Parts: sequence; C-alpha cells; structure tokens
Amino acid sequence: MRRLLVAANWKMNGDMSSNAALLAAFKAGFNGSADTAIFPPAVYIPQLADSLKGSAIAYGVQNIHFEEKGAFTGETNLAMAQDFGCQYILVGHSERRELFGETNAIVAKKVVAVLAAGLIPMLCIGETLEQREAGVTEQICKEQIDAVLTQVGIKAFEKVVIAYEPVWAIGTGKTASPEQAQDVHSFIRQLLAAEDAAVAAKTRILYGGSVKASSAQALFGQPDIDGGLVGGASLMAEEFVAICNAAQ
Ligand code: PEP
Repeated sequence: MRRLLVAANWKMNGDMSSNAALLAAFKAGFNGSADTAIFPPAVYIPQLADSLKGSAIAYGVQNIHFEEKGAFTGETNLAMAQDFGCQYILVGHSERRELFGETNAIVAKKVVAVLAAGLIPMLCIGETLEQREAGVTEQICKEQIDAVLTQVGIKAFEKVVIAYEPVWAIGTGKTASPEQAQDVHSFIRQLLAAEDAAVAAKTRILYGGSVKASSAQALFGQPDIDGGLVGGASLMAEEFVAICNAAQ
C-alpha cells in the first residue's frame, strides 16, 4: 500500500515570525495520518531544521542545482541541502519551467543528481490550459516523465514522487475535479506499469493545483491520488492542517 504524502510549497513567501507561527500550529494540529514535507524558501531551511528536530515532518528545498559545486551564483547544491537535513527536493515545478527556463532535460539532470545523493525527488509535471484544450495533456505528461525515465530507469520510481500539477490549476483557485485528476493519475500509473507493474504500484503520485481543505478529501479518495502538493493553502495554518488530516 502507498502511504499518502502531503507537501507544502511555500514558494517565495514567509519570514521568521510567520514561519514560526505556521510551524507551531502545524506541529500542534497534524495528526500524523500521512507523510508530510514542507518546502520553504532555501534561506529558511535552518529554521525548519531547528523547529522540526525530532518530528516526523520532513522538509526540503524548492530547487537544486545538479552540479556538485562551483561558479553557479545563486544556486544551492545537494550537499548543502543534506547538511541541513533535507529529505525531499522539489524538481521541475511549473514556475521553474516557465519562469526560469527549466527544460525536460534540465529537470532530468536534477532528478538524477537528487537520487545519486540519496534524497527523494518530487518531480512536478503537468499541462498548460492551452495544452489541455488542444487535447495533448497525456502527451505532455508522457514527455515530461519519459525525459526522466530514460535517464534514471523505472526502478528509481519506487523512490521518485510524482506531483501532477495542471498548470491551469496552480494558484488560480481552479482545482481539477477529482475525476479529471484521477484520469491523468491513472494514465501516469499505466505509463509506469508498462515498464514495471510492481514499481508502478509503489510510486506515489500527488495532485497539486489549488487544493483546499474542502476539496482534499474527494481528491485523496481517488484510487491513484496519493496525496497533494499544496501552494497557497499551505500558508494558512488551519487550512493546511485540515488538508493533511484529510489524508489517510
Ligand atoms: C504549487 O505551487 O505547487 C501549487 C499547487 O500551488 P496552489 O496550491 O497555490 O495552486
């Protein structure tokens, strides 16, 4: 059985005091029914390392460089993330792809590096509204997964977490319906199953895109939805606790 996972993507939000308040409320309210991970801005990783010491709540960075070290101004490497206890690394978020030019090939290199470091990549994929309307949602998801699959092989997907995030649903308040999401999740699992059914049965596929407490239960109740990646609602303590506690 796959244990559900709910992750928070704080994006470029927060400060020391608002983070502390969120973390305190989360630690107090979360019932531990699912795995959970928080992706704060990188500079706050030490704050989370300190606050979450001894708790089951994992954390990680929102982006990583695939090189070990060197002249890459502004970047963070995996050894740095590991120094502060990161377990998960978000890779290929649509904002990274759209705003920072991350191609499928770059995303694949990052996944390779994260796995080589022994950490868990959370690989974000998903189609834009234009692509959905053009009927190429499955093709886009397949291309995004294939780019990684050809580099890491199917066995790696026992560890890789996939976050299916339709771009049109991110930060827009438009959640995919549970059925719309399930259709794509099922397609993704079949893609993996065509390579190795046992691995596909273990791969966690999260849904992301305006998840709220009111929509979480119906989404997480779908057979191929194994939790969520939550942006805006993860900045509201009560809302995020309710989303996490809906996952079991
Ligand atoms: C995200 O940033 O990954 C995300 C899903 O954001 P939101 O929940 O705000 O749509």
